[in-house]
Amino acid sequence: SKVYLNGAIVDAGAATVSVFDRGFLFGDGIYEVMARINGRFFYQQAHMDRLKACLRKIDIDYDADTLEEAIPSLLEASGVSGKDCMLYIQITRGVAPRQHAYPPGIRPTALMYAWEKALPDINRGLAKVVTREDFRWSRCDIKMTSLLGNVMANQYAMEQQCYETLFVRDGVVTEASHCNVFFVKDGVVYTHPANTSILDGITRQVVLELCGSLGLEVRLQGVAASDLHGMDEAFLTGTSTQVMAISEIDGKPVGIGSAGPVTRRLQEAFLDLKTAP
Ligand code: PLP
Repeated sequence: SKVYLNGAIVDAGAATVSVFDRGFLFGDGIYEVMARINGRFFYQQAHMDRLKACLRKIDIDYDADTLEEAIPSLLEASGVSGKDCMLYIQITRGVAPRQHAYPPGIRPTALMYAWEKALPDINRGLAKVVTREDFRWSRCDIKMTSLLGNVMANQYAMEQQCYETLFVRDGVVTEASHCNVFFVKDGVVYTHPANTSILDGITRQVVLELCGSLGLEVRLQGVAASDLHGMDEAFLTGTSTQVMAISEIDGKPVGIGSAGPVTRRLQEAFLDLKTAP
């Protein structure tokens, strides 16, 4: 398979990065993942804008437009140009002697690769989730490669045969390890506001737009962990998860225990959006 590394498309096995790359030593970098559905990347502009915003937030000076221009040739080289696929993009600060503060003028390391994957029209899976204290830092708005907190939380879920861990910060559910989370109570849709406690998912933004077009009332408000078991519906959103109903939280069923009516409407509307010409 092929990867894009610093301007060249090379065999994955031959692609090398220095052990002094700050991405390796410090997790000093950011990333993005997008899905190509029916021949185009879903909300590519929003993903690229978030990538650029994250580069600015961590003070990496890098021309992401150049990267974007290289995507078609990467897809071609990867044998997925006509196919549905996923694309991973990562930019780390680059190579420098190991010290926390970074020197001026280091050249960022840019990596991209694509793999064939067709997402289901509608994610009919049901997610069991567990809750856990959000032990991550307080800049969760940065889509950084230092994902140890998210890795530990997702592993914790997997070990309990669950799909996700819902993070609880100061008594309020923020998001999950690689998804955002929504709740429905008495017809009102709740999700945590996009501040530094969550990653503002592109799928989250799309679902909020769909709530608007479906005339659903939305409150950008996190749900208290103590109120979780009174929710009528709950669902996860994410680029590869799409919109997935939550069936159980900490071993207790949510609502009807499968995708509720609001979740279903949003899943259908999400599908319409993906298949729109
Ligand atoms: N929250 C976290 C912590 C994530 O890592 C992700 C995606 O990887 C999301 C939310 C969902 O974001 P998106 O919908 O842009 O994929």
